Amino acid sequence: MRFDIITVLPGLLESPFAHSILQRAQNKGIVEIHVHNLRNYTDNKHKNVDDYPYGGGSGMVMQIGPFAACIDKLKAERAYDEVIFLSPDGKTLNQEMANELSGKGNLLLLCGHYKGIDQRIRDIYVTREISIGDYVLSGGELAAAVVVDAVVRLIPGVLSDETSALSDSFQGDLLDAPVYTRPADWNGYKVPDVLLSGHQAQIDNWRYEQALERTRQRRPDLLDD
Ligand code: SAH
Repeated sequence: MRFDIITVLPGLLESPFAHSILQRAQNKGIVEIHVHNLRNYTDNKHKNVDDYPYGGGSGMVMQIGPFAACIDKLKAERAYDEVIFLSPDGKTLNQEMANELSGKGNLLLLCGHYKGIDQRIRDIYVTREISIGDYVLSGGELAAAVVVDAVVRLIPGVLSDETSALSDSFQGDLLDAPVYTRPADWNGYKVPDVLLSGHQAQIDNWRYEQALERTRQRRPDLLDD
């Protein structure tokens, strides 16, 4: 799977992909992540990629020209399954969407800044708009990193223990059960006996009950249907 991300702040995206699971997925050759600096696609001598909004008002708007040049170049090199704009008014990212995207081949992600991007970029190029939640960030970079992380860990072969993604919260209709590790007794705070019992069926049952109870308490909406 391949991600291309267009941004005015490539430095913001260096660290998130250079560690842990995302780094290993790239080292294993399962995923490629390419970050493109939008400022390399402007003919403005100051490398500006934004301008004042028509009709007035506060905030600068990102221009269509540089985005069009960068997207056209990338599209000439390969076909993209989706051109995704990260935007607070997009569809909110959830596990179901992450699962769906993990089955795609090439994804192109556009990061906005300032007041947003010229609507014509969205009309002409964008096939899907994704929000990571009902709040406003300063730019799309952190949102893009969240999308890439959520998607990549679902690609078969990325997590060493295949089943660990399957038991995560939201993979089914339940949140994940509580987890414990050594020591079994920390200053009198003990791990539930059943987890030390060695009876896998009882452990599985306990985990299911705990997941159900946690979901009832915290996210009853997940159990509605
Ligand atoms: N004026 C816009 C917000 C612009 S914020 C509005 O009110 O809808 C600048 C950029 O940050 C956006 O273009 C988008 O790319 C990114 N962004 C901000 N909040 C986001 C969110 N919740 N999810 C995804 N991207 C977001």
